Amino acid sequence: MKIILTGDRPTGKLHLGHYVGSLCERVKLQNSNQFDEIYIMIADAQALTDNFSNPELVRENILNVALDYLGAGLDPKKSTIFIQSQVAELFELTAYYMNLVTVSRLERNPTVKAEIALKNFEASIPAGFLCYPISQAADITAFDATTVPVGEDQTPMLEQTREIVRKFNDIYGNGEQILIEPDILLPTNEICKRLPGIDGKAKMSKSLGNCIYLCDSCDEVAKKIQMMYTDPTHIKVSDPGHIEGNVVFTYLDAFCKDVETVADMKEHYQRGGLGDVKVKKFLQSVLEEILIPIRQRRNQFENDPTEVMNMLKIGTEKAREKAAQVLSRVKHAMRIDYFK
Ligand code: ATP
Ligand code: MG
Repeated sequence: MKIILTGDRPTGKLHLGHYVGSLCERVKLQNSNQFDEIYIMIADAQALTDNFSNPELVRENILNVALDYLGAGLDPKKSTIFIQSQVAELFELTAYYMNLVTVSRLERNPTVKAEIALKNFEASIPAGFLCYPISQAADITAFDATTVPVGEDQTPMLEQTREIVRKFNDIYGNGEQILIEPDILLPTNEICKRLPGIDGKAKMSKSLGNCIYLCDSCDEVAKKIQMMYTDPTHIKVSDPGHIEGNVVFTYLDAFCKDVETVADMKEHYQRGGLGDVKVKKFLQSVLEEILIPIRQRRNQFENDPTEVMNMLKIGTEKAREKAAQVLSRVKHAMRIDYFK
């Protein structure tokens, strides 16, 4: 069986980093028909670990994320889209996995460490936040996922999951593989593993406010491209320019399929004589080609939020059935199925 589990936190609308890091890969995998089951999770419980005082934000973004999914081409007939908090089995699994992980192991997780610094949690880390990699292990294993298409920031989470799976199977498996060890699936394009923000910061991220959103209008996208960080030493058009750290070229490498044209432009820019405005215009046309169909599909679904919520309800019921089966297998292995 080949099974996918992946998802996003409903802390905002989805952006181009999500798109290249995971979303467009998911749509491709979905349409390849090579997977037996696909689960896409809106991770609201995880979003609450650092937004617990603002549940309204999480609530409101569930619909936004669902709309972005549908806009990007996820098809509820092929992919089960569901809401994490409504699958209680996930939290029961988390509780059992907690015994298999030490606090110091959690504190060593580089992504969590960076997030703690970013959110100024150092002095008072919510226990739920520190433990979210464990809950992610529950999310992945509850669906017997073999494949997890995500961006590079998720590598430590997948490592943690694999450790939990091995330990669980070791302790409770009696020689059997009760839990499946998943593989991470990173984008093949190096840049897409971690797309930088329009400000040139290492990662486009909702938390950093440096995003182009999938639902931004054509004008908004144009404005953001205008603001993009280029080469501060490239003052006159005739000046030779640098492409290292020049976000406009980084984005062309991430999004433009016409590699030759990009190579020619890079050469011209470095030689001098190619203005930033021209390169930015080109990037705009490349991005619009991707964003126009997403926007159109998103708009259609936006007119019928009840239907979208109904789709989530059906997906959640289906996800819950699957997670319940896995949980019952887990409890049997742990010998805590007393009334069976
Ligand atoms: P938050 O700031 O709330 O953590 P985020 O922008 O990091 O939001 P997540 O919901 O945490 O987004 O990430 C969802 C998925 O998108 C993950 O698979 C993650 O690896 C991927 N992803 C997020 N940002 C990027 C990026 N800039 N480049 C590549 N992949 C990304
Ligand atoms: Mg994140």
